[in-house]
Amino acid sequence: ARKFFVGGNFKMNGSVSSVTEIVDNLNKAKLDPNVEVVIAPSALYLLLVREHAKKEIGVAAQNVFDKPNGAFTGEISVQHLKDSGIDWAILGHSERRTILGESDEVVASKTKYATENGVSVIWCCGESLEQREAGKTLEVIANQIAALKAKISDWSKIVIAYEPIWAIGTGKVATTEQAQEVHASIREWLAKNVSQSVADETRILYGGSVSEKNCKDLSQQKDIDGFLVGGASLKPAFVDIINSKL
Ligand code: 13P
Repeated sequence: ARKFFVGGNFKMNGSVSSVTEIVDNLNKAKLDPNVEVVIAPSALYLLLVREHAKKEIGVAAQNVFDKPNGAFTGEISVQHLKDSGIDWAILGHSERRTILGESDEVVASKTKYATENGVSVIWCCGESLEQREAGKTLEVIANQIAALKAKISDWSKIVIAYEPIWAIGTGKVATTEQAQEVHASIREWLAKNVSQSVADETRILYGGSVSEKNCKDLSQQKDIDGFLVGGASLKPAFVDIINSKL
């Protein structure tokens, strides 16, 4: 069975004091033990969060580079993450694809480097509003995942996050039917193009305006194995989202 997974993507938010408070609250809260929780603070707060958070809570970087240590000014090293007890990275988030110009190939290359060097990856995909309205959603997602498959052979360290761009930070959540349809198609793609066992075992998260209000319905869908939460992960409501299956 796929363990339910809830990630909190803090993006470029928070302060030493607010991030410490969020972690303190999570440490104290009663969290469903059947849920894997991973939080992703901005790079400068990774060590602080790793030192503060109880060990059951995983910590993720929001980016990594696809080369060993060296002359790469400003980049985040996979080896430094390992050295700091950081076991996860979010890669291919639409904000990095659109604002920072990361291509499918760059994202795949970073995912390969991270997973081969012991860092698990929350790999993100998703369509724009224009692509959805043109009826291209499933094609766009299939192309993104095909670019990943071209570089990856070991899928055991990958969690997929489906984040429709039009639902991110907009308050406009995908309907349970819209999300379930894409999740099922991703799983079908994996079964056809990778293997049945990878399709059965890979967690597929939904992200985009997840809140304490909509999480329960979404969590009941057959192919939704958790969430990647942005804005609400900075609020006390994050605990309710983690516990959405209870
Ligand atoms: P929101 O939950 O703020 O819509 O952000 C979703 C997201 O981008 C998580 O990675």
